[in-house]
Amino acid sequence: VEQYLVRIDEHRDLNVFTEVYADEARQQADAVDQKLASGQAGRLAGMVIGIKDVLNYTGHSVRAGSRILENFTAQFTATAVQRLLDEDVIIIGRQNCDEFAMGSSNENSAFGPVRNAADTSRVPGGSSGGSAVAVQAGLCLASIGSDTGGSVRQPAAFCGVVGLKPTYGRISRWGLIAYASSFDCIGPIANNAHDAALLLEIMAGPDDFDSTVSSQPVSAYSQATLPDRPLRIAYLRDGVESAGVSESIREATKGKINELKAAGYIVEPVDISLLTYLLPTYYILTTAEASSNLSRFDGVRYGYRSVSTDTPALDLLTLYKKSRTEGFGAEVRRRILLGTFALSASYYDAYYTKAQQVRRLIRQETERLFENYDFLLSPTTPTPAFKLGEKTDDPLQMYLADIFTVQANVVGYPAISIPNGTDADGLPIGLQLMAPPFAEGALVALARTL
Ligand code: GLN
Repeated sequence: VEQYLVRIDEHRDLNVFTEVYADEARQQADAVDQKLASGQAGRLAGMVIGIKDVLNYTGHSVRAGSRILENFTAQFTATAVQRLLDEDVIIIGRQNCDEFAMGSSNENSAFGPVRNAADTSRVPGGSSGGSAVAVQAGLCLASIGSDTGGSVRQPAAFCGVVGLKPTYGRISRWGLIAYASSFDCIGPIANNAHDAALLLEIMAGPDDFDSTVSSQPVSAYSQATLPDRPLRIAYLRDGVESAGVSESIREATKGKINELKAAGYIVEPVDISLLTYLLPTYYILTTAEASSNLSRFDGVRYGYRSVSTDTPALDLLTLYKKSRTEGFGAEVRRRILLGTFALSASYYDAYYTKAQQVRRLIRQETERLFENYDFLLSPTTPTPAFKLGEKTDDPLQMYLADIFTVQANVVGYPAISIPNGTDADGLPIGLQLMAPPFAEGALVALARTL
């Protein structure tokens, strides 16, 4: 704990932690010491982690990177976080992220941007940018993030660490501040696939507080091995051929493909015919869900409330409007407007219903693909980490950073991003592997061999 606290202090410029629980972490460490002495320590005894600022931890502030949760204190602890605490993890602090997990660069945070430790003029990715840099810079051993469209994997790729998004419903969402409920997944970011798997197996499993959580048995993912039969790996042709993907990333991905072939895997190119519909489907559905989820932040029940010195005091509607306008940042307001539009009476069928239909088609196409293959391989991102400010004026360019990651969320499949070398400038490159639902064991096992 002391070592991490020193490093956190040395790396304040990266803007990773929005709050450091120094004294509390020391107390947790003392308690773990005593448990170790009496032989009663949990499976994570001594593991120092950080949690993304969207996870409730009782008695601690939680802000979702937003002004609107100013002065709000969590009233309960997220199931995933509680399970880690029950195994004696030590929580060292709360990590910066894009506001309400909306973003791909960690530039949409009320706490300011996080910087990539590989090159501080570049973004760390998002939305779990703080969580990824924390592991990259050695400010804690692992982090817990959330992934709605890539927010664990994309920053892991930009920072050269491992990010695991489990199957939808594998980990309870109780206590995770919602962005898009039918996409949201809690996921670990770690130095290696083994640590990520260990955290997953402890957080996963049934929970009375989340009706969408799966009752499938949880296996020891950290001990999993590959099935003993020839394995078939599909790779996305666009990932190694498309001009939209940086050459360094295409080459690094081809390198891995050749390695796998040499190791005896059957590796074949595939096309996803609905690839161009992935991002539109994702953004229609997630903004629709977000506009509904975020309606609870009304300036009355939680956090920030607009105050007026005028008399008479603000009427109720003006209070809502002003609190939400002042409390939410530009990207969150944009998405609430988009989502409200997609759900409006006159456009519901044209946008929301249509996107739901396309979501089903994408799921069917993905299911068919996995009838013939065990894994789908692609780059995690089309480019390495970009410069701070480079894409802030162009939301569509920003959304393209998620082209390879959103599919796993649209269909609810597990996926992992692992480091795949660096480009000529020393910027990390990520490789993504996707597997069928609840095949996290095989996914982690393959990741470990790579
Ligand atoms: N970058 C994507 C978005 O802004 C993904 C975010 C996430 O996974 N939370 O929606």
